[in-house]
Amino acid sequence: MQTIEQDRNHVWHHLSQHSVLKTQDPMIIVKGEGSRVWDIKGNSYLDASAGGVWCVNVGYGRTSIADAISQQLSTLNFFAGTAGTIPGAVFAEKLVAKMPGMSRVYYASSGSEANEKAFKIVRQISHKKYGGKKYKILYRERDYHGSTIATLSATGQEERRQQYGPFVPGFVEFPHCCEYRGQFGDVDNYGELAALELENAILREGPDTVGSVILEPITAGGGVITAPQGYWPKIQEICRKYNVLLHIDEVVCGLGRTGKWFGYQHYGIQPDIVTLAKGVASSYAAISCTVTTEAVFQEFLADGAEKDVYFRDISTFGGCTAGPAAAIENMRIIEEEGLVENSALMGDYLLAGFQQLKEKFELIGDVRGKGLLLGIELVSDRANKTPAPEQVAIRVAAMCMQKGLIIGRTNRSFEQLNNTLCFCPVMTITQEEADFILQTLDSVFSELSL
Ligand code: PMP
Repeated sequence: MQTIEQDRNHVWHHLSQHSVLKTQDPMIIVKGEGSRVWDIKGNSYLDASAGGVWCVNVGYGRTSIADAISQQLSTLNFFAGTAGTIPGAVFAEKLVAKMPGMSRVYYASSGSEANEKAFKIVRQISHKKYGGKKYKILYRERDYHGSTIATLSATGQEERRQQYGPFVPGFVEFPHCCEYRGQFGDVDNYGELAALELENAILREGPDTVGSVILEPITAGGGVITAPQGYWPKIQEICRKYNVLLHIDEVVCGLGRTGKWFGYQHYGIQPDIVTLAKGVASSYAAISCTVTTEAVFQEFLADGAEKDVYFRDISTFGGCTAGPAAAIENMRIIEEEGLVENSALMGDYLLAGFQQLKEKFELIGDVRGKGLLLGIELVSDRANKTPAPEQVAIRVAAMCMQKGLIIGRTNRSFEQLNNTLCFCPVMTITQEEADFILQTLDSVFSELSL
């Protein structure tokens, strides 16, 4: 097939060891409708990965989003620099209306960029107010924040960082909060103890040197980790105590995926900076947002002699109107179809199903997550929580694929939090489709147990 050869010969795939494609055809996806996609050979799959990387939140084949983009592009496709656009203005207002306490939206086109902007905001505030001293950015083990060198410098996944150093100075790691793989044992106040790791790091570095902390509300690609009770209020308290900005990376969780509009809204906290990308327009167009409070924004206002102190940053494609035009329609769909509620409902349903699978199969060590961001961690010895070899997760994913189900899995990790199967179906998922996921997993685990 011509496309397969064109792809094999000239495309460099993300996250792929291409030598595999010498003996096996690359997968080419050609069509999507609702929760399903079709490959070039005519095979159909239920996609429990929302586009491979947790993006296509409102599902495939949304002609109303395509129409909104098309209409906007034929009126005005682009303008950037110091000017704004109509869809940019409309969407910014709609977005912050869902985020009480937040005020300003800065557009770019990827999650990594959104986080880079946030880092630059923190650094600039450090220069303006603290003589450049409050420049450090703390990040958490297992969290992922992007593919650029600075965002990788803020990423707590050794397996992704290896081979790309040296990193940007001023980024400091502190321990993860995964209770299943935790260091504090079986205690009632696990969440609080894990949050104190942030305070320890701030004190170690010196509070007057720490500008912000970046955290995923639910660690996604690092193993689908939800923080134990008590974690988040303590994190907020520590940030306020030491005047450290709280930056929540909602690139995966944002726009309803976890059963609330934003992941942090499960925990009653108020961030200073929130970054968004994948779900903003369900990836019908490339758009990301760095959202700040009015207080953060005010740091960049000045008159008179100081007026050159503004945010000296630009992303060319932050001026594409396709992004906000798609995002406005995407938000309308989420609201009108009740997709945030559906994420909560179907998420609970799937999680309950995963619990039942765990009771049946020794291979499952832990199941966790919130809304439609769920994980199943595989172990070879449940009592000792010995991680299952990576090959097992690869095999499970391949067997699911053969049965018409696409799932995700964490990347190779040389630490213990590996081999987590990841589930991030589109937010329109029905109970029937959820049952298909559960039945497929049941039959795969049964075959593996034979
Ligand atoms: N933050 C998180 C939590 C992510 O999962 C990702 C992407 N997987 C990013 C940031 C980076 O986004 P992008 O790939 O669009 O640069």
